[in-house]
Amino acid sequence: MFGALRLGRGGVRGVARAALAARPCGAAAGDAPAAAGRALHATPTAAAKVLCVLYPDPTGGYPPPPVRDGIPTITHYPDGSTVPSPAAVDFTPGALLGSVSGELGLRRFLEAGGHSLVVTSDKGPDSAFDAHLPDADFVISQPFFPAYLTAERLAAAPRLRAAITAGIGSDHVDLAAAIDRGVNVCEVSYCNSVSVAEHATMMALSLVRNYLPSHAVAAGGGWNIADCVSRAYDIEGMAVGTVAAGRIGLGILRRLHPFGCALHYTDRHRLPADVEAQYGLTYWASWTDMAAAMDVVTLNCPLHPETEHMVNADTIGAFKRGAYLINTARGKLCDADVIAAALADGRLAGYAGDVWYPQPPPADHPWRTAPWSGMTPHTSGTTLSAQARYAAGVREILECYLASPPKPIRPEYQIVTDGKLAGAGAHAYSV
Ligand code: NAD
Repeated sequence: MFGALRLGRGGVRGVARAALAARPCGAAAGDAPAAAGRALHATPTAAAKVLCVLYPDPTGGYPPPPVRDGIPTITHYPDGSTVPSPAAVDFTPGALLGSVSGELGLRRFLEAGGHSLVVTSDKGPDSAFDAHLPDADFVISQPFFPAYLTAERLAAAPRLRAAITAGIGSDHVDLAAAIDRGVNVCEVSYCNSVSVAEHATMMALSLVRNYLPSHAVAAGGGWNIADCVSRAYDIEGMAVGTVAAGRIGLGILRRLHPFGCALHYTDRHRLPADVEAQYGLTYWASWTDMAAAMDVVTLNCPLHPETEHMVNADTIGAFKRGAYLINTARGKLCDADVIAAALADGRLAGYAGDVWYPQPPPADHPWRTAPWSGMTPHTSGTTLSAQARYAAGVREILECYLASPPKPIRPEYQIVTDGKLAGAGAHAYSV
């Protein structure tokens, strides 16, 4: 059961100092002040135990051979905020950091500070994760391979100060229980929003143009063009709507704007009028009213009580016959059997995404084999490009917590702080 556990030094190849500004806790010029809530407990940590759950290494061994030399340097996100800016990083941007041996590049930093790091991919019932929870001060988990931090597990972790999401989306943590227990929850907002927006845009085009089945024809030695094009359309002129126009949802709309689509959105928060005007956006108060008028619908809201199973046996009837649905947000936004039935009966012409429930899904999950689907494992937000940002973001967060005295983390990273929704969490979640 402890087979995937790494306790010793090592696992990080190609140690380097990235070209990231050396500022304390991401206090980058131009960032909003972090006064909205202090993601801290009062007692500085002497020696902390950090328990990190990452996905298993590549089947061919670690590290995989590099495909390219490095990744582009990104300094700012589209809204002008800065990428994570820890004091330093101990990894080569572009390296595989998200699997067990990558260790998010954290070991050298933590051990140099007298802290301990446990990295495992063993996260099910009675796992290494459970065994280490009772004396863990921090838990790090990734949405791609979530360690579900249930109320029971939180009760078994009396020392826990914070659950840190190496990515975006903290629904794998029981937020209500975290609030009750005074456990902070934070994530690296924006670290992979562009990654996911690119992926969802790709999937919308892929479904509408019947790309994957046509590739299968070519790969299988065939050439029946009629078979390929009987389900292929242009996206130009189609109505595309996003449920939520946050960082990812708006990113998808921006990417589809040059394709000549009619762009629509719904959200808890209406976008500024100048943004609506720039992209010709139509706002809808009700997502089902919007879906009824859409050729393509994309889900980009967090999973929380307002949104769980929003696409269900009742609401699937709101979609136009032959609509395409893209879900790179969370699997539990949709009833899995309802989606499979809608693909079979033609209500949906296609469904694609990378999010499932649970993760990993069982071998017989209906989305693995549903017709006209383009599902992948949960990969869109963990490109090598995204990994460099979220690994740096986790380090930035830990630098804040482990400073003496602790320093506040950026408000946009906060989901739950000091017993209540805060920052990005107050903006986008409910409990
Ligand atoms: P964001 O906080 O910028 O945007 C979320 C938006 O959802 C906000 O604008 C919020 O107002 C809106 N929202 C919340 N509840 C709503 C509701 N009931 N109806 C309509 N809108 C609602 O976050 P983001 O960076 O755009 O990420 C969004 C979600 O995407 C994450 O919470 C996560 O679940 C998912 N995600 C997936 C991946 C992946 O790898 N597939 C990666 C990152 C994020």
